[in-house]
Amino acid sequence: MEEKVQCPVCQSAAPPCYIVHGSNSQYVRCPVCGKYEWCVEDDRDFLNMNQLPAYLAYHARDPKISSFYTTRAKGEKSYLFSLNDNREEDFFHPLYIDADIITSWYPKSFAEKIDLILLYIFNHTSHLGQSVHFSAEQLYSFLFVDRYEWSSSKYVLRPQNDLQQEGVFMLKCLAERKYIPDYIGLHCDHTQDITLMPSAYARIDEIQKNTSNGRNVLVAMKFGDDTKPLREAIRKGVQDAKYHAIFIDEVQHNDFITPELLKHIRDSKFVVVDLTHQNNGAYFEEGYAMGLGKPVIQLCKKGTQLHFDIAQKNTIMWASEDDIPELLRNRIVATIE
Ligand SMILES: [Zn+2]
Repeated sequence: MEEKVQCPVCQSAAPPCYIVHGSNSQYVRCPVCGKYEWCVEDDRDFLNMNQLPAYLAYHARDPKISSFYTTRAKGEKSYLFSLNDNREEDFFHPLYIDADIITSWYPKSFAEKIDLILLYIFNHTSHLGQSVHFSAEQLYSFLFVDRYEWSSSKYVLRPQNDLQQEGVFMLKCLAERKYIPDYIGLHCDHTQDITLMPSAYARIDEIQKNTSNGRNVLVAMKFGDDTKPLREAIRKGVQDAKYHAIFIDEVQHNDFITPELLKHIRDSKFVVVDLTHQNNGAYFEEGYAMGLGKPVIQLCKKGTQLHFDIAQKNTIMWASEDDIPELLRNRIVATIE
């Protein structure tokens, strides 16, 4: 039997990872966090180690999908590409995650956590009434248990007992709301079998119906190095209006119109489109959103000739990217309830 290694994020026993010699990264396939590249020494913005395990668990890629998360700085080429002799499909599509992406996804309230937990269990349940087995590491990740304490300028693992206590607390909260059966305690190996109760399904229906009342907003624009300042300006404007901007290249790896992209548009309360680069994809996404009756906030650099169909639409005309956050925030606050 293969010897297992420990996942550096959630401490699960994971199949052996690839350590790329001469680089600071390793590639991990974790049963809880999915596939990701872990940069050991990293002088970029420090990732929040209490939020990262939940982020990875909730976004874990299907093992069949050939993409992986990486904590490497965006655009920096992964050393995994140099593993020519060991070329696996896996290594081709890095999805960059950084402190901002994780923090803006991380639930801000207790109620949001409970809703996400229900959806997580639901997504791991194949049949109604099924009892699903979760490992201790998986429980801590999806129950948003803090694994670390910030002490003397570094993250230190908290004692196992404290993690258990926090996990048990979250399970008791679910039981109290009748989302899971009366809580009877963890198994002795700290794993847990969970069955969703009818109240949980009722709540899940409610959440799914209201997803478009959520805080996610798809942004359609041209992606590339030349549009990075524009992307960050739009992200800031959306964030300042207390919404969360979704850039499709941060959640999937190709440029095609995919079911995932369409789903993000359907789940968005409104859509932000920048038409400066006359990008066909952006026109398509705007059209799709309008067809669904979603509000669309249009931006464009001053002097760009817009397609006549949408030229009349009230557009935020910006001269410099620096103007965007305030203009966009104000427009969102004024037009979206
Ligand atoms: Zn893990």
